[in-house]
Amino acid sequence: MTEEKRAWDDRQETEEKSAGGRRITEEKRAADIEKKRRREKETVGSMIEIYCHGVHRTKRGTLCDACRKLRDYADLRTEKCPFMETKTFCSACKVHCYSKEMQNEIRRVMRYAGPRMLFVHPALALRHVKVTLENKRKASRETEGLSKEQI
Ligand code: SF4
Ligand SMILES: [Zn+2]
Repeated sequence: MTEEKRAWDDRQETEEKSAGGRRITEEKRAADIEKKRRREKETVGSMIEIYCHGVHRTKRGTLCDACRKLRDYADLRTEKCPFMETKTFCSACKVHCYSKEMQNEIRRVMRYAGPRMLFVHPALALRHVKVTLENKRKASRETEGLSKEQI
């Protein structure tokens, strides 16, 4: 085997390894996003169930027609969400892809089910509180900045 041929083979091997590494990273990233998407659907679904059971008096684990419609709608939004990789909660999103009506519905659900989630999914409930507080602080800083400019 000539020197040139050996060098060419080495180069090929290095390129293949690095392409393989990139592929694995991309696959992992896609898998992580899908996992997050699945968890998001489960969480929102659980919150809608808590709400439906408590407010609409349905049997635990079942949904009335209106809540099923809301859950399907939320699932679809989650399916199409372009921020899944970095998103925390929809309430922290500046885009708000929900229709006005559905946004009001889901807010009602979150307000009711949020505190009750502490008993069902404590870690998630605490994370929700942290993100909500951070966003409130951020919003209040922005408002503060605006009013100072206006003075
Ligand atoms: S409100 Fe924002 S974060 Fe939530 S699903 Fe729509 S785009 Fe994604
Ligand atoms: Zn219901």
